[in-house]
Amino acid sequence: MPGVKIDKNHCKGCELCVRACPQDILRMSKTIGVKGYFYAEMVDSSRCIGCQLCAITCPDVAIEVHTHGTSFALFDY
Ligand code: SF4
Ligand code: SF4
Repeated sequence: MPGVKIDKNHCKGCELCVRACPQDILRMSKTIGVKGYFYAEMVDSSRCIGCQLCAITCPDVAIEVHTHGTSFALFDY
């Protein structure tokens, strides 16, 4: 299973990753981080496909995705 690590202390709460995730498994927290923003968090890691779109989208490089060398199809064209 892919692993997604979100550094809530670097997150500025822009929500771009939440919108980018094709699985809709990222949400904004209900508590604020040290920067004073609501931060992104994973709600269902079992559905993550390891596409890395969240990490690519994040302007603050606050997300790491580990996919263990497995490739996944993003969209079913
Ligand atoms: S790797 Fe892809 S599926 Fe997993 S949380 Fe990030 S955007 Fe969503
Ligand atoms: S894209 Fe990055 S900075 Fe923006 S909410 Fe997601 S983790 Fe936070």
